[in-house]
Amino acid sequence: MLIRYFLNPEAGDALDVQAEVHGTAKELRLMDVSGFLTHAIRNLTPIPPSEIGFDTVDTGVWRLPLKRGNTRFRYSVPTRFAKAWKHGILPVVKGTGSTFFLGNGVFLRALLSEEVRYEIRIAGHASSSLPATGHYWTARNGRQLSLGGFVCGDFTETGASGGGIPLSLLFDRGMEGLREEITSLSSLLVQEMTRIFGETPSETLSMFIFKAPRSPAPGEKAIGSGLSFHRGIFLQLTASSKANAWLILHELAHQWLGQDIHAGEPGVKWFLEGTASWCAMTAAQALGFLTRDHRHELLSQSGETYLRAAEMIIGKNPALLEARTTHSYETEGGILLIHGLDRFFRNKGRTGFRDFLRAFYTTFRGAPISNGDILRAAETFAGTPLPPYVREFLEKKGLLPFREWVETD
Ligand SMILES: [Zn+2]
Repeated sequence: MLIRYFLNPEAGDALDVQAEVHGTAKELRLMDVSGFLTHAIRNLTPIPPSEIGFDTVDTGVWRLPLKRGNTRFRYSVPTRFAKAWKHGILPVVKGTGSTFFLGNGVFLRALLSEEVRYEIRIAGHASSSLPATGHYWTARNGRQLSLGGFVCGDFTETGASGGGIPLSLLFDRGMEGLREEITSLSSLLVQEMTRIFGETPSETLSMFIFKAPRSPAPGEKAIGSGLSFHRGIFLQLTASSKANAWLILHELAHQWLGQDIHAGEPGVKWFLEGTASWCAMTAAQALGFLTRDHRHELLSQSGETYLRAAEMIIGKNPALLEARTTHSYETEGGILLIHGLDRFFRNKGRTGFRDFLRAFYTTFRGAPISNGDILRAAETFAGTPLPPYVREFLEKKGLLPFREWVETD
């Protein structure tokens, strides 16, 4: 399914949004982020010959029945609402004289279907800094849509290179002070990540550097957030360079796994997320940013989060589960499973996961991957069937024996 948005920010105090839904589904469920659908959408109307009607099925969820063919509708969002996102998530659009945050605050985000692709275009910004497919920018999933948007305008640009890739670092206002530090750190991290994969993922890489929107509450960890898109990364950084390195490494790894090699089915998220975190840990350790003990500590933390999620998931109706629980199961469980595979390969007399990953990347460059591809490649690499916990994890039918791995590592 494809949802395409066209935005016109020149309409007075509101953004005029036109949406087209292409696909064969009979209905679309849309997520209401922070009461957005209820409070910020104005004048929701169908574009003839389309007919639409929304109904609320649950708190925070709207249902849009679809007829055959494409459904088109339009709505408007007050710009003050879009701007309010400046204090919320990510990122900025700097157009002619105005700054917009185009996150969840502007787009209707589809729920219950991981197959949705979004395309976004904004009037008057055909030369957006973001790479576009035709004139549209593509987001491969809801998270990219919620964090993403368009970035145009007056960033301070610094050129660099890392691992043989030309890097373009674009610093938002207020981040100039971190320019030197982040530029040299990024070069180093790209170089280390390229060493892991053996090849570069693209010919260029753009990194947008934003300031974290608020300081953490007492007791809360200062963590930034990031988003990987085609040939680029958004980073919202904190003052702590250790946390920044971690985040940059994770998002960089997604240039190889997630952008170049990408999901051919929703079920491979464990592999993309788990491997990105595994690469971040491996690179951080190689660079001396992470000790062996700290790595074990991180794995144990992932283990506890995974276990809480897994205990809720296994044996229960998946329809009742919160998205966050499934997310924890896949991302934290993914790190553990990669760690388990690394041990398994070594126990079978093979080199570790790193060599598997390199061979896998070379084979699947530019291609969509499935769990079948991953399992077959892992079995071929090991020269023997995989242990039963791999399938049990994928089918959500059994717990990973991670405690044993972490303790005996
Ligand atoms: Zn990730």
